[in-house]
Amino acid sequence: MDIIFDLIEKERQRQAHGLELIASENFVSENVMKAMGSVLTNKYAEGYPGKRYYGGCEVVDEVETLAINRAKELFGVDYVNVQPHSGSQANAAVYLAVLKAGDKIMGMDLSMGGHLTHGSGVNFSGIQYQVVSYGVQKETGLIDYDQMREVALRERPKMLIAGFSAYSRDLDYAKFREVADEIGATLWADIAHPAGLVAKGLLNSPFEHCHVVTTTTHKTLRGPRGGMIMMGKDFENTYGHKTPKGETKMMSQVLDGAVFPGIQGGPLEHVIAGKAVAFAEAIDGQFETYAKQVQANAKALSKAMIDRGFDIVSGGTDNHLMLVDLRNKNVNGKETEKALVLADITCNKNMVPFDDKSPFTTSGIRLGTAAITTRGLKENDMDTIAGLISDVVDNIKNEEVIGSVRKKVNELMEGRALFNY
Ligand code: PLP
Repeated sequence: MDIIFDLIEKERQRQAHGLELIASENFVSENVMKAMGSVLTNKYAEGYPGKRYYGGCEVVDEVETLAINRAKELFGVDYVNVQPHSGSQANAAVYLAVLKAGDKIMGMDLSMGGHLTHGSGVNFSGIQYQVVSYGVQKETGLIDYDQMREVALRERPKMLIAGFSAYSRDLDYAKFREVADEIGATLWADIAHPAGLVAKGLLNSPFEHCHVVTTTTHKTLRGPRGGMIMMGKDFENTYGHKTPKGETKMMSQVLDGAVFPGIQGGPLEHVIAGKAVAFAEAIDGQFETYAKQVQANAKALSKAMIDRGFDIVSGGTDNHLMLVDLRNKNVNGKETEKALVLADITCNKNMVPFDDKSPFTTSGIRLGTAAITTRGLKENDMDTIAGLISDVVDNIKNEEVIGSVRKKVNELMEGRALFNY
């Protein structure tokens, strides 16, 4: 047998034995995996249902239409494109649809919690476009909406981005829209992280305020790795949108064209099938219980961390994640991530707002509860987890203590299925 399958089994064991606290990860159901590992991977289907450039697309047309309709039902939206291969691809398509190269955009600074595709200098978004950014207040760790408005009025970006990879609070989309309207900018929300909680109404909805919304499908939404673009109801720019070339088209047409043929070729119909399965699971009532538990676990974990003297940016969380500022513990993010991995606890080093360390070292770590909630952990386990993290941080070079934490982690996860909720 190909060694690849031994490695897959090794990775399955690693996932089963460990505590997965990476905020952008989750565990999918057997059915999602079955759809992804199916013969649909054999099919080329450039185009859209009913309008393909290849023959034999009757079945994948049904698959993709089901995925679109289920996503529309789940989020209560009018337009969905399920083809983006990843969150970054979905975002690239928005740029292509809305802007000309060289236009100005405004997003949350990467070092304050934004994403690479929101204007980072090492990403196409920062290379092809002019970038201005907003951040959080030093004292509160909360988005500084006044500063955001001030910069927006001065710089007049063509597109404003509401979204984050490392911000633990809900967003005021109405406020973003007010500012966007003042300068005639397109407002784009990237809900890659909180999508599952947004779908169940546990966080503010971006759809009534934002012109366009993108997401990944694999974080709190608990589907296969991928991306998606949506537009809510009554989006006034849906009709008569002017493309960067000056043509007047429906926004849905412009977005579809930006995905294919704009930035992608053939869609991954096996992944789209996995998305369809995950959307059906998320429409189901059980997913609401799961999403509420993700939020409850995050609140409990943040409180337990604070009780152990950890500094949580903004003092808590509204969603599934939190940023831990480790400066008062005299350790950095890099060494903490490494020591936690030795204890079978995975998380990622992360810059904290106003960080004095580089992105390779960082002063913080980011923790999330989407994956451990799928494993079946509840609020009362969060105190145990905070204790285990605390033991590692307080004994960062002590192999014996770290070894004993690893044993406790393995005991806690023993016998738990990957998908258990
Ligand atoms: N947008 C945000 C806010 C993200 O956090 C991420 C991933 O972490 C992405 C986009 C990109 O998703 P992907 O890694 O699928 O390209």
